[in-house]
Amino acid sequence: MRRALKNSNFAQVFNSIGRSGNEIKNKMEYCSIPNICWSCNKQLMKQNSCFCTGCGSLQKVGYEDYFKLLDVPSTFNLDSSTLTSNFRRLQSQLHPDKFSQKSIVERNNSLEWSSLVNKAYKTLSLPLERGKYILQQNGIRISEDNTSVDSEFLMDMMERNEQVEEAVERADLENIARDLRLDINNLYDELNVCFANNNLEGAKIAVIRLKYLLNIEAIVKEKMLKYM
Ligand SMILES: [Zn+2]
Repeated sequence: MRRALKNSNFAQVFNSIGRSGNEIKNKMEYCSIPNICWSCNKQLMKQNSCFCTGCGSLQKVGYEDYFKLLDVPSTFNLDSSTLTSNFRRLQSQLHPDKFSQKSIVERNNSLEWSSLVNKAYKTLSLPLERGKYILQQNGIRISEDNTSVDSEFLMDMMERNEQVEEAVERADLENIARDLRLDINNLYDELNVCFANNNLEGAKIAVIRLKYLLNIEAIVKEKMLKYM
């Protein structure tokens, strides 16, 4: 569907600029054309490659899938060290400093690539964001209101918030933090199982709960700094 849309956009651009060779080439540098190098007009050998294998120039941003971009399996249960090393390798290949002497097209492309790669890494490296991203890829969005959370869970969260507010010693905060971590790790396990079994409804509930717990954990950590 997305590819079809892109192609029809291209057709519109193509038709609107007439058929003179130079006009088309100039326009090509600024519109996204799947699998054709903007610089040498050759077919790109590898689909979604950052660089043209023919002339070596940096292509326009073409990835839409963060997992493919960072070359990791499309799964919740990610190996974080592979993710990080792939991110670093890619970021060093695409860093704007490397393109300071290149054409404006490549300089712009490298900025776009770098920001996309950063965004992808930020998303995939955090389990909550990764879970939300997989749900989003499946057409499921997490609403900001509390309508999809059961009242028992909300009560529990309110109680925990109160505990944090009332805590006046570091030891109390450490206890709360330890309990929270246990629950958070359990939710990570639950998310692994849900996504492995394609149980997206279950994953959605776990993601929402995780969001609450991580929020409280952040408050606890901040408060702990005062009791160093
Ligand atoms: Zn090329």
